[in-house]
Amino acid sequence: MLIQDITEAELVLVGIGSEMQVKLQTLKDMPGFEEKLSVLEGEQDREWLIPFLIRYYLKREFHPKITKAYEKLLGMLEGKNYFIVSLSTDDLIRGMGFREERITLPCGTYHLLQCAEDCGGKLFQIEENFWGRVSGWIEGDVSLEELEEPKCPDCGAPLVMNQYGQPKYNEGGYLKSWGKYTKWLQGTVNKKLCILELGAGMEFPSIVRWPFEKVCFYNQKSVFWRVHSSLFQLSEEIKMRGKSVKSDPLTFLGEQ
Ligand SMILES: [Zn+2]
Repeated sequence: MLIQDITEAELVLVGIGSEMQVKLQTLKDMPGFEEKLSVLEGEQDREWLIPFLIRYYLKREFHPKITKAYEKLLGMLEGKNYFIVSLSTDDLIRGMGFREERITLPCGTYHLLQCAEDCGGKLFQIEENFWGRVSGWIEGDVSLEELEEPKCPDCGAPLVMNQYGQPKYNEGGYLKSWGKYTKWLQGTVNKKLCILELGAGMEFPSIVRWPFEKVCFYNQKSVFWRVHSSLFQLSEEIKMRGKSVKSDPLTFLGEQ
């Protein structure tokens, strides 16, 4: 049982991948999303709004299955010394009750903005007034013409989501937490460690899959749980310490 392995471990390392993330198709199935998206798509001066539209539809109450899975995970990690590396950008993990200083999000977030040119390495909060107007447009109270693209106060370039995939991704959004993570990882040597990989396939394997396998290989006191609907196989080197679960992580966590 996973819960038993977590209970017996001194430390728990969690990796979260795309199977835990909100899919674009899920958003498209939600009332109003496609309609708004079609207003923005293909219009050069309006496409900047698409990430903000997505952000609106990432509200936790719209994604009960993922929220429940995080609740389960939170319960299992209660009182444990853990660190979470998440490839997800949907921000659903935020505000759930996980220790914020024990999460690193190398692919970025819908929570912070950066200059598209990354002129000064700064990051910006999304202003409440602005967000209120964007929400108003989505909810039908504000016209599209009233919305203005946020601009970098230093160079005037657009402010964009601080996410991997930006031509000039500002990695400053996660590097501090990444530093904490690598330090924490050093402290797992020779300790009883439970490694839990949830739905991390071959997207960014150098962030979760490969380094997690390496940690398991070198730590003889570790146990490894790999949960994935299709890429659940474990390499020969860690098979004896590993448990491979063929399941999507939402279903798997729901059953715990
Ligand atoms: Zn700038």
